[in-house]
Amino acid sequence: KSKPKTAEEVLNKYMEKVGPQENADCCICCDTLTAPSSYGEGKPEAFDVIQLNKCSHMYHRLCLLAMYSSSHNDDSIQCPTCKTIYGEYLGNCPPGEMTFDIIQRCLPGYPDCHTIRVLYNISPGVQGPEHPHPGRRFTSRGFPRVGYLPDNDRGRKILKMLIVAFKRRLMFTIGVSATTGEVDTVTWNEIHHKTEFGSNVSGHGYPDPNYLDNVTAELAAKGVTQQDL
Ligand code: NAD
Ligand code: ZN
Ligand code: ZN
Repeated sequence: KSKPKTAEEVLNKYMEKVGPQENADCCICCDTLTAPSSYGEGKPEAFDVIQLNKCSHMYHRLCLLAMYSSSHNDDSIQCPTCKTIYGEYLGNCPPGEMTFDIIQRCLPGYPDCHTIRVLYNISPGVQGPEHPHPGRRFTSRGFPRVGYLPDNDRGRKILKMLIVAFKRRLMFTIGVSATTGEVDTVTWNEIHHKTEFGSNVSGHGYPDPNYLDNVTAELAAKGVTQQDL
């Protein structure tokens, strides 16, 4: 592996330097962009202003650098204003596997196609430095867990994005289960799955005409979009 990039090298891919900005604030330090960043008091570079290249939001260069350095485990940053993700945001899902197959039956609401069944298996183990309690054991309940998608163009596209999310360790995390209250256990991580096939007892079943839109938005919130396919 090549040597780790510095914070500056990482961030330079996502932003450009711009000139002084009147009438605009840096929402990291809450000061105006004509004032210096508090991270670099007295230095001329405290006045540097940058613009993020996808969403166009502007910050003090040193404020963004400080934000990145205080919390990152990968090459990604999230715009603190609009939540746009730059780079590949990685999660902390423990090791496991994801598979899928086709069921020759229709989901409620999708009478014209069969069904994709996605299966996840995550084993219990010991938490790493990226987890809430490094060195402590964690449990994993209810695996294999399943999710269902319609086997149509849209469903297959979402399946591919789920696979990207799984590879980036975004699908599950370790924490407190909202359902059971158990601590140090594997939980779903904000990318909802439809875990019931023909019924909807839990509220995580079909029909749900908004589900494909919702899960697409949840994937995008973690930086996974069609551009990753
Ligand atoms: P959680 O309860 O901490 O919730 C995390 C997210 O998962 C939330 O967004 C929530 O809306 C969603 N979620 C909750 N119940 C769901 C369900 N049945 N299907 C799909 N999404 C659901 O998450 P968790 O601790 O991972 O538990 C979620 C579900 O996992 C439980 O309801 C249960 O179905 C299953 N589970 C099973 C066992 C078991 O021993 N069989 C143990 C724990 C969890
Ligand atoms: Zn600032
Ligand atoms: Zn932005």
